[in-house]
Amino acid sequence: MAASSQHTDLVQLDKPRQKDLDRCVHCGLCLNSCPTYRELGIEMDSPRGRIYQMNQVARGQAEISPSYIGHLELCLACRGCETACPSGVQYGRLIEAARAEYETKVKRTPMERTARNIVFRHILPSRLNLTLAAAGLWFFQTFGLQSLIRKLGILKWFGNAETLDKLSPPAEFPTFFAQYGKTFAPEGPKRYRVAMLGGCMANVSFARLHEATVRVLQKNGCEVAVPDTQTCCGALHVHAGRRDDARGLAAQNIRAMVDGGFDAIITNTSGCGSTLKEYHELFEHDPAMHARAKQFVAQVRDINEFLASIELNPKMGEVKQTVTYQDSCHLAHGQKIKAAPRKLLRAVPGLTLKEMANSDVCCGSAGIYNVLQTEMSMAVLSKKMESVNRTGAGRVVTANPGCMLQLRAGCEMHGQGQTVKHVVEVLDEAYAAYRG
Ligand code: SF4
Ligand code: SF4
Repeated sequence: MAASSQHTDLVQLDKPRQKDLDRCVHCGLCLNSCPTYRELGIEMDSPRGRIYQMNQVARGQAEISPSYIGHLELCLACRGCETACPSGVQYGRLIEAARAEYETKVKRTPMERTARNIVFRHILPSRLNLTLAAAGLWFFQTFGLQSLIRKLGILKWFGNAETLDKLSPPAEFPTFFAQYGKTFAPEGPKRYRVAMLGGCMANVSFARLHEATVRVLQKNGCEVAVPDTQTCCGALHVHAGRRDDARGLAAQNIRAMVDGGFDAIITNTSGCGSTLKEYHELFEHDPAMHARAKQFVAQVRDINEFLASIELNPKMGEVKQTVTYQDSCHLAHGQKIKAAPRKLLRAVPGLTLKEMANSDVCCGSAGIYNVLQTEMSMAVLSKKMESVNRTGAGRVVTANPGCMLQLRAGCEMHGQGQTVKHVVEVLDEAYAAYRG
């Protein structure tokens, strides 16, 4: 088959399927779980309204118009509606397929197209290019340029640049890249052999989190391998409708890890985990790769899920703090994991967990949504911070680096001096505090 017609076949598969759309019975039970509907009260910006519009397009009764794209782009893809739906509508699958369909039809300026290609094809999947970009960011943040620009108030002149500056990830050097290809021995007898996925942005902005993850796994008897040939998981590509790019990355990760004899392939990033667990959906047109992807998916575990499923090493010191837990959407709704992080937090001596209202409603981070839809993202974040503040907790704990960045910005803008940590960092702190 010629390359171009093969490409067309793949694109045709990447659109919402009628049988998935028909599961929606228009009951509206999902409306209250939708952050954009709660904010705007507009039916077309609710899950039911978006599914209706997708159905219209699928049946040829409406065009893919700028208005259609606008309503779908405003969706956070948080999948809160999927959890709320009693009819089993797989909304995440629908929105990803709809975005893949219109991505081929969206008219972008040559500059936009080039910028997107650079980010998605040449920065996110390339450790070298990501390191160079992070080095530039680190230089900017470390040698006073960022604070000088903040002091001069220049960012106020450029739309929402001031908000984006608060959301920008800190570049952490030395990066985690140095650990690729290495294997870390367990502390004590070996109980498990696991592979760790480094991801893309997290490698340069959450290197300390990665290191804490390795330490906590070692404390729990894991031999931790960091396979060298792994790459970005492709989650951002899937969310942006770039499924062909995502397929290439998925195939590389499957090759890098599936035959490694691992008890689990671990990620500390729920946004990645959700996509990793759905790799087989990218290969529905390719039976051989679909089978390999299923094998891979069976091994993937979120770090919370993995640790909560084993006998946890109880040798922890006290962490005397009241914390509140924000469910990461791709853990709670994408992977249906809510109890595991709470179980881990409750295992930490001295720690008090105080639940916030609506902890499973999105914080507004949603991958790069906060950069692309900053106004809505900030409105959602402001509501989230009201819930956080009402708990009086001094720390917000979550399970996804993207949520951590968003919540840090939230604490800075609307908070009461709270700090933000990942569940694994809290466990790491507890293990470090153990005095025997
Ligand atoms: S994914 Fe989230 S934002 Fe999108 S329709 Fe569902 S609940 Fe609303
Ligand atoms: S998505 Fe589910 S909950 Fe929402 S309107 Fe459709 S059937 Fe009802």
